[in-house]
Amino acid sequence: MTLASHPIAAPALLPEVSAFLSKAKIGGVVGGREVFASDDGVFETVDPGTGAVLARVARLTAADVNHAVDAAAHAFAKSDWARMPVNERCVFLHRLADAAEARKPILAQIESLDCGKVLAQAADDVQNFVDTLRYFASLAQNLEMRTVIAVKGHEAAVVRHAWGPCGFIIPWNFPLLLCGWGIAPALAAGNTCVVKPAEDTPLSTLYIGFLARELGFPDGVLNVVPGMGETAGAALASHSGLRRMSFTGSPEVGREIAAKCGANLVPVKLELGGKGAAVVFNDVDIPAVAQKLVQAITFHAGQVCCDATRWLIQKDIYEKLVDECATRMQAVAIGHQMDAQTQMGPLVSEKQRRRVLGYLEKGETGGARRVLPGGAATVPGRNGFFVKPALLAGSLDNVAAREEIFGPVAYLAPFKDEAEGVRLANATDYGLGNSVWSTDLARCRRVAESFESANGWINAHNVVVHGVPYGGIKKSGMGGGVGSLATLLDYYRNISVVRPL
Ligand code: ADP
Repeated sequence: MTLASHPIAAPALLPEVSAFLSKAKIGGVVGGREVFASDDGVFETVDPGTGAVLARVARLTAADVNHAVDAAAHAFAKSDWARMPVNERCVFLHRLADAAEARKPILAQIESLDCGKVLAQAADDVQNFVDTLRYFASLAQNLEMRTVIAVKGHEAAVVRHAWGPCGFIIPWNFPLLLCGWGIAPALAAGNTCVVKPAEDTPLSTLYIGFLARELGFPDGVLNVVPGMGETAGAALASHSGLRRMSFTGSPEVGREIAAKCGANLVPVKLELGGKGAAVVFNDVDIPAVAQKLVQAITFHAGQVCCDATRWLIQKDIYEKLVDECATRMQAVAIGHQMDAQTQMGPLVSEKQRRRVLGYLEKGETGGARRVLPGGAATVPGRNGFFVKPALLAGSLDNVAAREEIFGPVAYLAPFKDEAEGVRLANATDYGLGNSVWSTDLARCRRVAESFESANGWINAHNVVVHGVPYGGIKKSGMGGGVGSLATLLDYYRNISVVRPL
């Protein structure tokens, strides 16, 4: 294990970042104004790489969140937002994209510090946010808003309208990127938004809320409500004034949110966890695949819902591939997310570190072998939530093979032939992303199409591309995915207009 023992001096904080973080408290954005909690509550967000407090943020109450939904409803009804020509509305999205791109170094530092993400990866997330805004702006501008239908004896058309206020609850692993995936299609279609960022990582979403205000978005079009899940999040999910709800997070909370939305008959989209498999056949280039699997499991310290966390390896290359992977995992440089040589940063919180370490122990107690033991990692001078990457092996009935761990931990198992590889990959409650690895492309396509998941990747993992639908089935999600034309269409309600001839 290479620990970044002499951390290279982190890039100095940009003055704009220091100014943002050193505000006495950072409020939410509601109705175009910075707002604080009606009970004056605040919470602290910490740097996961040091454990030190980064900023103090308003902890909005349920009543404050209700006001935000009212503000979004008011903006939808009274501002020009929904009614302005789509090309005018999309100017706002492009303005936000351009400004976020121009401030990429600022946003990247904020995101890196708040969620423990390696700085270069945080910069990629900012670019993804920018690209998402541009993608949906251009899609909306080219969408037919009235589709004439040829039916005998009738003049008929389907006409699209925006729904109204839409709610978004965002998790802590990709805060800015997932905020973009949520709000960009909704805004492009003319809806108004209320976004509840995760309490561990509220800062980049808040920064975007303030930026949109500065860029002249009509008041109430984009509201950001920082607060706790059980209060602010629950209030948003329970609000009957929403027209659509979108949640990304754990299946447990997803279920609660779906129940709340169900009670109000508000359509809800859930993007939940995963337990993805990589099915590796014996004809691969072993070092090349080892490198990609290790990159995938250590990317953002494994806190990626679509990650390959079950590595199913054809018997005759099992030992060799596992050895290659273990060697590479031990060489991963663990350190503070802002230090230049760091390849893997900390987990987001002490709670998350306990969860990951707990799964290693539960897995071992349940009979799994710790091929690469993992465990807590120490980085000199940094009191962060670091862990080492780990490999477990054994029965796929083991708790660590069945449940989502959300850390740099992969579970290994051998398989005999194609049929067994596919069967094992599909033997899970989750259905997010699986990958197949082979030089035989016909086999790759066959296997990828046999996965019971919403995404099947060939000779790669975690492939998410604008224009290609990304979503989850089974315990991984419902209600449509993100990232494609289908997502934009979700944010319009249709009315069929018919006249008998
Ligand atoms: P994790 O367990 O990985 O932290 P969660 O699913 O708990 O993920 O959190 C994802 C998002 O859901 C966060 O924004 C969090 O505040 C929010 N959340 C948590 N609990 C609730 C709840 N009961 N109702 C609504 N939102 C919640």
